[in-house]
Amino acid sequence: MRIEGSCHCGRVRFSCEAYAPVPYQYCYCSICRKTAGGSGSAINLGAYADTLDVDGREHLGIYHAKIRDGDTCTISSGERHFCTGCGSALWLFDPEWPELVHPHASAIDTPLPEAPERMHILLDSKANWVRVPRGPNDRHAQHYPDESLEDWHRRHGLLEAREGRR
Ligand SMILES: [Zn+2]
Ligand SMILES: [Zn+2]
Repeated sequence: MRIEGSCHCGRVRFSCEAYAPVPYQYCYCSICRKTAGGSGSAINLGAYADTLDVDGREHLGIYHAKIRDGDTCTISSGERHFCTGCGSALWLFDPEWPELVHPHASAIDTPLPEAPERMHILLDSKANWVRVPRGPNDRHAQHYPDESLEDWHRRHGLLEAREGRR
């Protein structure tokens, strides 16, 4: 499924082909909360990196998150792309998985499929004031889930087949 996105000020526009277009996974970690998620969570989708087209590349900034664990601090290899004009979080690219790109659902303008089940993850680092939905279709994980974006989409019959490989 081809999805199109943009930042809030409009300097950056992008599109890519998503294999995992359903916004089901709400991440409550401090990186998502502070860089992308005002309500305490952010949602990444899965797409193919070689299908990413970008207009306004000169306005992109990249943030490498600092991950603190006790007294140690490591720098994430993940490249969190954002607009330097307005601050919108756009997508994550990690050179460790060079074939993939993970757009933020919040930046996507194409209507996305509604999730039949929502997964709330990294609850061990959520802010205390955030209320997490606990309905019949909400699932919860204290840390990272065992199931990948691809596996979740496959289990629900929602995995998108790749069109026209380049
Ligand atoms: Zn912008
Ligand atoms: Zn997160």
